[in-house]
Amino acid sequence: MFYRDIFNHLPESACICRAADGLVIYNNPKFETLFGFGQEEINESSLTLFDTTNVKHAPQLKENIANSISNEGSWSGEILSQKKDGSAFWSKITVSPFEHPEDGLVWIAMHEDISDKKQALETLEKSEKKYRDLFENSRDAILIIENETFVECNQATLDMLGYKDKGEFLQQHPSKLSPPKQPDGRSSDEKADEMMRIALEEGSNRFEWDHVRANGEVFPVEVLLTPLVTEKGVQQIHCVWRDITIQKKQRDQILYQACYDSLSGLPNRMLALDRLEQLIKESHRRDTKVAVLFLDLDNFKKVNDTLGHEWGDKILEETAKRLKNVLRDEDTVGRLGGDEFIILLGKINDPYDVNPIVHNLVESFRLPFYLDQRELILTASIGIAFYPDDAKTSSDLLRLADTAMYHTKQFGRNNFHFYTDQMNKEAERKLLLEEHLHGAVERGEFTLAFQPILKLADEKIVGAEALLRWHNPVLAQVRPDEFIAVAEQTGRIVQIGEFVVTEALKAVAKWQPKDNGVFRIAVNVSPRQFRDPNLLSCIQQNLKTTNLRSDALKLEITEGVLLSGLATVAETLEQLNHMGIGLVMDDFGTGYSSMSYLRSYPFDTLKIDRSFINDVHTDKADRELVCAIINLAHSLGLKVVAEGVETAEQGEFLKEHGCDFVQGFYYGRPISEEEFGRLLNSFN
Ligand code: C2E
Ligand code: CA
Ligand code: CA
Repeated sequence: MFYRDIFNHLPESACICRAADGLVIYNNPKFETLFGFGQEEINESSLTLFDTTNVKHAPQLKENIANSISNEGSWSGEILSQKKDGSAFWSKITVSPFEHPEDGLVWIAMHEDISDKKQALETLEKSEKKYRDLFENSRDAILIIENETFVECNQATLDMLGYKDKGEFLQQHPSKLSPPKQPDGRSSDEKADEMMRIALEEGSNRFEWDHVRANGEVFPVEVLLTPLVTEKGVQQIHCVWRDITIQKKQRDQILYQACYDSLSGLPNRMLALDRLEQLIKESHRRDTKVAVLFLDLDNFKKVNDTLGHEWGDKILEETAKRLKNVLRDEDTVGRLGGDEFIILLGKINDPYDVNPIVHNLVESFRLPFYLDQRELILTASIGIAFYPDDAKTSSDLLRLADTAMYHTKQFGRNNFHFYTDQMNKEAERKLLLEEHLHGAVERGEFTLAFQPILKLADEKIVGAEALLRWHNPVLAQVRPDEFIAVAEQTGRIVQIGEFVVTEALKAVAKWQPKDNGVFRIAVNVSPRQFRDPNLLSCIQQNLKTTNLRSDALKLEITEGVLLSGLATVAETLEQLNHMGIGLVMDDFGTGYSSMSYLRSYPFDTLKIDRSFINDVHTDKADRELVCAIINLAHSLGLKVVAEGVETAEQGEFLKEHGCDFVQGFYYGRPISEEEFGRLLNSFN
């Protein structure tokens, strides 16, 4: 009775059946619930153990149990069992034999429902297979890191690295598959540890990394590290690599296009200024200086216009090469655009240190450029500014270097100048003049002064030079040397020039000089005015309204006009000559003083610059030069005027040597229109 109770209270389903045919002769309540039979049913329908199993398994099962029991004394196995309603489930069955006093040999069979367990196992197996498939078939390399070594990897890893066998590189520190250094210059070893640490701390870490293939080739990958703890509690890092060679190339290309000049291959303005910022920061830390050099080719526009852009481009390429050759590797040379280049020299202790470099830069333009069969000498002008001495910001430094470069251009090109405060003041002054020149003609701020020109032989006034005077309410009296240059640069000289011609001719008409020969009024004309298509018509118009003969007007022209090389200049000069207007070569001796200019253009007078007259009685060389100029002019059929005569001795000397006309303080200062009218009346 006691044992029956125990049997009935077993937590698992249990039954006792006859070994001979498996007939269930006793069962506990759990058996009933598991299989869904009532007790009567079991008794009446003479249920066997094999009825509770899936038909497919039943015959096999009988044999297996019998064999196992006779050999090993018991049997256990997992069997697809079957309930009363026919539904199947997995159960684990344990069968043990027992000699029953009445029924003979019986089996005690215990059923454990393992459907849930089995299901869970299956899902696990399935997901594990999925993961394995994913791992093996992934095109990204997947690796597993344990204890800072690679312990497993997939096929894609082998393909990517070009190894045949995992054994060739597993069980090594992750950095062993990298070059010694990463692109940022850090050691791979050290950086790899840091990357793994970050992944562990932050739950994942994505970054770019350089790896190295079995053949030594370095290639870039994007790495994703994800930390994971296995069931056994082992800390792993899962590591996925994606080869980004192509993306990186595209990215580099876009970056290159944005930062480099395609023609010269040099950094462009943006990158150059960025580097300047870096240099400024660095030199601030180290207490050193940065030199910013602004380099501009001389006359490049002319080369470009006459030889064509193709050759212009070749010259720029060659220039880039020459500049790079002269500079140290750590220096930056960039192209700002056009024929402008910027050079950055860092770690300068003493501004004096840049001298040899700048000299070499200028020297590098000594050799001619070879274009096809042609040789071409092209020089460069350089301006230099220093951080922190001259300015603190990159844009200011560039501007000041540009100002210094401009200074070089004005002082004969092919050279260099360091920026000085003076230059800035000059630039500011120019801006101020420019501002006030605007509308100055309309406001009536200009007047003319007239300086007499005398015939040396009898010292009679034969003409005058009209000299412009500017009085501005804010700036007061401004010297013509100063404002004419600005008016030329801004083009305002065209309007002012028209004013001068108009007023000068009006004055002459008003004076009505008594006619002992024609009275000639000399007007200065700037190079810029020759580019004005209205120059001729303006002159014609004024001659007409004043009713003056055209030979009453002389135009004073400097060599600058001829240097511009414009075809229209020669044409205009011819037309003026044809009209009967006199042409004076002004300031002779100061510029190129080219004989060929005198010969090839229709000048009738040559004006010796006052700088030569100044020292004529103290300086032997000047004396000889003045004599030579007078003789030369006469041999070419030109008359000679000497300007700036301040003493009787100078006048005497000029008279002795056959100079035709004189002008200067000794004979008369520039005076107002009224004064000049009175002067003429008193003389004649
Ligand atoms: P420039 O053509 O050489 O003019 C002669 C300059 O010499 C004038 O200076 C005159 O005042 C100065 N001068 C005359 N006699 C003597 C002398 O005995 N000793 C000294 N030391 N100087 C003497 P200014 O009036 O200051 O003009 C300077 C320059 O400005 C002129 O040089 C000329 O190039 C330019 N300029 C003046 N008026 C005009 C104009 O209407 N148009 C243009 N384009 N330029 C002008
Ligand atoms: Ca003049
Ligand atoms: Ca002069």
